[in-house]
Amino acid sequence: MASARCAGLARGICFQPGTFSNHFSLRPFLCLIPCITHTAFLPYSHNGAPKAFATFQKRLFHNLSKEKFLKICQAQVLTRDGAAQPTEVTAEAVEKYEAVIGIETHVQLGTATKAFCSCHSQYGSEANANVCPVCMGLPGALPVLNEKVVEYAVKLGLGLHSDISLRSKFDRKQYFYPDLPKGYQISQFDIPICRGGYVEVDLPVEFGGGHRRFGITRVHMEEDAGKLVHAGGDGLSGSLYSQVDLNRAGVPLLEVVSEPDMRNGLEAAEYAAELQRIVRYLGISNGNMQEGSLRCDVNVSVRPKGQDKFGTKVEIKNMNSFSAMQRAIEYEVSRQVCLHEEGFESKIVQETRLWEEGSQRTITMRSKEGLADYRFFPEPDLPEVSITQAYVDSLLEDLPELPNTKRRRYESLGLIMQDVLVLANDSDVAAFLDAVLDKGADLKLTANWIMGDIAAYLKSEKTSISDVKLTPATLAELISLIKDGTISGKIGKEILPELLRKGGSVKEVVEAKGLSQISDPALIEGIIKQVLSSNPKQVEQYRGGKTKLQGFFVGQVMKATGGRVNPTVMNEILLRKLTA
Ligand SMILES: [Zn+2]
Repeated sequence: MASARCAGLARGICFQPGTFSNHFSLRPFLCLIPCITHTAFLPYSHNGAPKAFATFQKRLFHNLSKEKFLKICQAQVLTRDGAAQPTEVTAEAVEKYEAVIGIETHVQLGTATKAFCSCHSQYGSEANANVCPVCMGLPGALPVLNEKVVEYAVKLGLGLHSDISLRSKFDRKQYFYPDLPKGYQISQFDIPICRGGYVEVDLPVEFGGGHRRFGITRVHMEEDAGKLVHAGGDGLSGSLYSQVDLNRAGVPLLEVVSEPDMRNGLEAAEYAAELQRIVRYLGISNGNMQEGSLRCDVNVSVRPKGQDKFGTKVEIKNMNSFSAMQRAIEYEVSRQVCLHEEGFESKIVQETRLWEEGSQRTITMRSKEGLADYRFFPEPDLPEVSITQAYVDSLLEDLPELPNTKRRRYESLGLIMQDVLVLANDSDVAAFLDAVLDKGADLKLTANWIMGDIAAYLKSEKTSISDVKLTPATLAELISLIKDGTISGKIGKEILPELLRKGGSVKEVVEAKGLSQISDPALIEGIIKQVLSSNPKQVEQYRGGKTKLQGFFVGQVMKATGGRVNPTVMNEILLRKLTA
């Protein structure tokens, strides 16, 4: 193989990659592991992987006859063919099956420092800028637990209605990967910090709505691994060499494991969206999927309806939005249904598949390790995690109102579910709404301003409600000044962008611009008299029966007052004068 370019080879600290046909998943990495333990930035070669990949796929079906093998390939091709597949293969077939979906979510915590050392944990630093002997796994370095990690774990557990373990411990999860220099990950195995619980979700109205409760199995604390950067290609395949960035190694994570309670892609996506809302409301993570702060691994299996036994589950990774997650699940369900329908259900293997956004399909990544492969054992470098009930109670006391409670409250105040979902979606927007309501403003009017003109402004300016200068008190003032007739709704809309941009009080802006509404009947009557006397012909026509000319007079009065006249008072006087 002409591709042995690993710099470790020259130094005699690396294995020759050799042929890949036997140990596809392990062999290329053997090349890097020894290198990485010596120096953290060595390139290695993995040409030849695509060929091994094909061999690997073939071996999955090695005991099939050629005819059956071709048939299964066709089935896979059908399900890979984007939009065409459900109509051809699964339109009725899907109805005969039930999908069972469980989700493992990794939430990256927004602590200032890493889980077991004092390195900064912020996203986007220069590669390997935030590393130290502990997170690089150098021999002799000892981890010390960051207590914020425990605090955030308990907060999330409380938000998910879990039982909090007052005593839990850390364990080592052993596996080799080039971005894991220690050769194991510090995680929690048999005694996680939180057990049980649930998430409540309101499905979008446009998809039929409905309320669901999905169970939580456990939440445990662990550390993140580093990140491989593949140079010269979009991924591992096709790249020239790979580099490792250990900034993320040791960043604290909470893994949230759900019960297999979801039945379709929409439910799964909504579960994940709710989890994102909860961590954002709690302020423990930015929950940003694009930055990898919220990563979902979805387990999907399919079984004939009425069957108790679960089908073989397939794990899907690599989805960086909720809609991608929904599409990946829908694709995977049809793929599995297709295999069932073709009589190949035994060929659904326990494996990890990647979602390919470009081709809108899932592809085989690797066969899944079993639990026994990880050789869990108690972490000897860290003491047991021991917390008191009083500590848990104090965190419970300070817990903010969470999304589901907020939605129920908005609903009980009389908002329709469509508006409730919009307003409670973002904790900052919901907090803004609540603050305006605290100033005594009307709920419906406030909701309309936030979802209408303010949302449009935020969208066009690509900003967020926490970054605008408009305060809740000012919006409350605006609403009340419109209500009492000091300014018209039209003027309110006109001055809103300035309030959002520069802030200040509504009264000041209105006075400075001379925009206050004219409501004084004597003043309005004077203006109307003037308008009528300068348009005698139209007055005559109106009185002769051409009553639609009223609009003309309204326009003239508006023009004369710069649109500031109170329409109700004006209409009343105008009608009286015209018919006099
Ligand atoms: Zn460190």
